[in-house]
Amino acid sequence: MECDFKESIQKALQDANLTGALGKFSEAYKINRTKAYEGIDFEALRGKIAEIKSYAASNLDQLSDLFQQNAEARGATVFRTNDPAKVREYIARVARENGVKSVVKSKSMATEEIHLNPHLEKEGISVAETDLGEWIIQLAGQTPSHMVMPAIHMTKEEVADLFSKEVDERLAADIPRLVKVARNELRPRFLEADMGISGGNIAVAETGSIVLMTNEGNARLVTSLPRIHVVLVGIEKLVATYADIAPILKALPKSATAQQLTSYVSIITGATPNTDGTMKDLHIILMDNRRTEMANDPKFKQALQCIRCASCLNVCPIFRLVGGHVFGKVYTGGIGTILTAWFDELKKSEDIQGLCIQCGSCKDVCPGKIDIPELIMEIRRRLVQEQGLPLIQKTIYSVVNNRKLFHGMLRAASIASRPLSSGGFLRHLPLFLAELTDGRSLPAIAAEPFRDRFKKIVQPESKEKIAFYAGCLIDFAYPEMGEALIRILNKAGFQVVFPDEQTCCGAPARYNGAYEVAAHNAVDNIKALLQKDVAHIISACPTCTVAMQHEFISTFESLGQTEWLPQARELSEKTIDFSTLVTKLVEEGRLSLKEGTTLGAVTYHDSCHLKRTLHATEQPRELLQKAGYELREMPECDTCCGMGGSYSLKLPEISAPILQRKMKNIRTTGAATVAMDCPGCVMQIRGGFDQNGGDVQVKHTLELLEEQLA
Ligand code: SF4
Ligand code: SF4
Repeated sequence: MECDFKESIQKALQDANLTGALGKFSEAYKINRTKAYEGIDFEALRGKIAEIKSYAASNLDQLSDLFQQNAEARGATVFRTNDPAKVREYIARVARENGVKSVVKSKSMATEEIHLNPHLEKEGISVAETDLGEWIIQLAGQTPSHMVMPAIHMTKEEVADLFSKEVDERLAADIPRLVKVARNELRPRFLEADMGISGGNIAVAETGSIVLMTNEGNARLVTSLPRIHVVLVGIEKLVATYADIAPILKALPKSATAQQLTSYVSIITGATPNTDGTMKDLHIILMDNRRTEMANDPKFKQALQCIRCASCLNVCPIFRLVGGHVFGKVYTGGIGTILTAWFDELKKSEDIQGLCIQCGSCKDVCPGKIDIPELIMEIRRRLVQEQGLPLIQKTIYSVVNNRKLFHGMLRAASIASRPLSSGGFLRHLPLFLAELTDGRSLPAIAAEPFRDRFKKIVQPESKEKIAFYAGCLIDFAYPEMGEALIRILNKAGFQVVFPDEQTCCGAPARYNGAYEVAAHNAVDNIKALLQKDVAHIISACPTCTVAMQHEFISTFESLGQTEWLPQARELSEKTIDFSTLVTKLVEEGRLSLKEGTTLGAVTYHDSCHLKRTLHATEQPRELLQKAGYELREMPECDTCCGMGGSYSLKLPEISAPILQRKMKNIRTTGAATVAMDCPGCVMQIRGGFDQNGGDVQVKHTLELLEEQLA
């Protein structure tokens, strides 16, 4: 990572105004969004939007032709180009030919994308942003930090300072007063402007209409008062029919600002008369800028389903910590990373793609049904394909790919780190490793890994076999979890087998774009785990379960490797996570929970992969309650703990405050124990409490259930 990128992260993290404002906003947003969608079938709605937008993405040329035909029949001039420079030149030429001296604009990300304002200003044209947030950042000489709320990173005090300079009067940080000042300042700009420039939320091919949704009414003035109106839209805004507006209109305000409906919805169909009786000069620019290329890319086509609601930013645990400016000058957050890689260049996403912790929160709320984390992984894969792996990663993966060497090194590290460990933790690491134990202890590497302990376990014989995939953490840090799991499965009448050749699930390599390495790990594990005649393959780590259920297949598919696909599918079908299997065994009567015990209060942390890919949220909760625990829900129970595999090692400065927030949320419940189904989350949260009071015990669900299962 570039030094100045790391510096920009540090700067953002130290900006208390930024983190405070975004933290409060995202907390309130989640609650309000849920309320806004009450009684609405979100899955059906976003399914419809995805269908509409996907159809449009498959027919961009045809819909552009139809749009042009219908808009021109209604008096508009339509200009189509792939090239941002030609868009800038077109608008400047229209301005020159009509003697335009001043322009008013309503919010448009497409104009940000092509850096229109500086271009017009160079031509001697004054440009006034009229959306309040855009005007604020224009006065501040900044770029938007958020697609919908461009000045969300600024406090009212900072805005008062800016406005004070503008009106040459000391203004208090009083929001209604500041809004009044903005209105007074902008009104004459509307009246004197020769040209209005707007974006568009939707472009309807069937009628040649542009749909605009705003909350301030400024777009109505921009599009109606000046004699010339220029609309700039990316072609992903096209939809086929007028009826297609409805689902987007329904979702956009709910997802963007948790409103039922945007205050102003304008539909502009063709040129309209000016107040002096002349007709408005209406220009509509359909900009491609690699959108067609994106539509032809089978992986990235879905990114064109975006309706620019910014919901994905509002729920992103990283965005709420570092804000938008760290992501660059135009598009921000997870979707911004994808758009930057395409509309700017892949290389520009090199640093920012690393900000994504792969928690999946954005995917859950996206009304365009876009798998943002998966697309960010694809960016990583393409970057590695283009640039190769950094030397240090190459070395690490060559070790991980050699199971005997990898495990041998872990055993050696266990011995070497013994002088540094106490009570099962590594609390301080020396030299350049010191940062890794800042705010969180690491687990000591087990003196005897699970694979060695397994050989000594005596199990009752059974015809019903189940294979256990331990994953690196249970194998080498928490072998006692593996032992507890075996006792539980023995109680259910299974004999557990542990194929010794199993190795890393490949998730660390895959999440860093090293798909070839991940594919190698996948083949090793398939060979190891499918060789036994077993009913299931169980894992007590959701990341490993997701790898075996989904990612082995998608890794082979991404690489175009077909040889191991049938076996990967077979493995996927047999793989199951701990809580889902135990729930099934309880339902079948093969396991039962001791009744009548009261075991105290416990709160539950949802691990990202368990909740968002395996969809197991109720199972562990029900099991814990049946076992006799009092379940107390914490705020943001499903927000990432900051572990993210190697993320916490690569970006500890981001991981640490996420963990702090998680611990605060756990403590608010007053429960003495927090349960979770992921050994990675156990490592993060247990290590956090070890360094911050040790007042809460952190357990894998299976450790809490073992005694209660019969
Ligand atoms: S990616 Fe999805 S959530 Fe993000 S802005 Fe686009 S539509 Fe909204
Ligand atoms: S997966 Fe998580 S971290 Fe990544 S962009 Fe989405 S919300 Fe942000």
